Amino acid sequence: MQFFIQRSGLLDLYEKVAGGERISEADALRLFESSLNVVGAIADVARERKVGNRASYILNRYINYSNYCILSCQFCSFARKKRDADGFQLSIEEIVQKAREALRFGITELHIVGGLHPSLPFSYYLDMLKALRALDPRLQLKCFTAIEILHLAWLAKKSVAETLRELKAAGLDSLTGGGAEIFRKEVRSAIAKGKESAEEYLDVHRTWHRMGGRSTCTMLYGHVESLADRVDHLRQLRNLQDETHGFVGFVPLPYQPENNEVPVEHAPTGFDALRTIAVSRIYLDNFEHITAYWVGMGLKLAQVALSYGADDLHGTIFEEHIFHMAGAKSPQLQSEAEMLKAIREAGRTPVQRSTFYEPIKTWAEPTAADAASGDGRSEILENNLATA
Ligand code: SF4
Repeated sequence: MQFFIQRSGLLDLYEKVAGGERISEADALRLFESSLNVVGAIADVARERKVGNRASYILNRYINYSNYCILSCQFCSFARKKRDADGFQLSIEEIVQKAREALRFGITELHIVGGLHPSLPFSYYLDMLKALRALDPRLQLKCFTAIEILHLAWLAKKSVAETLRELKAAGLDSLTGGGAEIFRKEVRSAIAKGKESAEEYLDVHRTWHRMGGRSTCTMLYGHVESLADRVDHLRQLRNLQDETHGFVGFVPLPYQPENNEVPVEHAPTGFDALRTIAVSRIYLDNFEHITAYWVGMGLKLAQVALSYGADDLHGTIFEEHIFHMAGAKSPQLQSEAEMLKAIREAGRTPVQRSTFYEPIKTWAEPTAADAASGDGRSEILENNLATA
């Protein structure tokens, strides 16, 4: 491999990474502009050192409580106004029912986000968390993006810290990482005008981390941003992680171009998706886990990403709306058997993980569950679509 890397002109970066040395923003930009396979090989070294041979997934379910939103981010295909026929909002009973259905399949996490609803009171969100906590105290509740937290603080007329304290007392376990988009102001204005600033996004997570909370973070890439903008985004995440150590994982999100106002025709290519994961792994040396988000990449490319720096495939999800309304062609859920197969084929040991990436189950040898077909899948999908 040394010869292969030497020929690429990236030997200095390989040696830095192999020696555990941090790379600079200029180095990251160089990686973005270099041969994919060499960058992937370096990322694989970094991944191996961090997590060894394991690759994880989670049994989880997504729930969107509503798609009504007072904002109109240009890139968003999910949000609706009250006048729109396909807007929805779920009652707490409906949310609990969806959670109850998913518990039958062994999920350990609910991932709950929605738009900035124009009229639901703060008590709705507290009651939702309390009802889900009462349903199963072991269920990990990963809920709300940073902009939703700001919206809830505004509704509650409380500080962000006080709002987070109340949500935590009601059952909140983790914040989601959504809403980071790209931090640079000019790009943010072009794709998500009116949304919270980078500083506000980071400050919500900082406040949560200081309270002992943990969260993930994201980057929406492949639209109007430059490679330098991506590096700047990663820089700000790495800085906050140095400060709080509160991020448990990073999830790069490939942009989906349909049904929105951003003038971009294609989702990022497979090369771009793999390179972004690889550079993220190498540059974010203070992050343990990098997720290949199968919803945006497709499971096949996510599987390949396990050799380009990723160590996690995300989850079963059950009912994804946000990426699919933007044109994602992946299914709306994955079976555990499919993820186990993908991980094993990639030469990794599958680990079912918790919200915080802690191992719940390590699959040493293939078992009957691996061989199980996805038979339950169409039934679950039909049910999900019927209740969406
Ligand atoms: S991205 Fe979020 S905040 Fe922006 S319009 Fe869509 S739902 Fe609303």
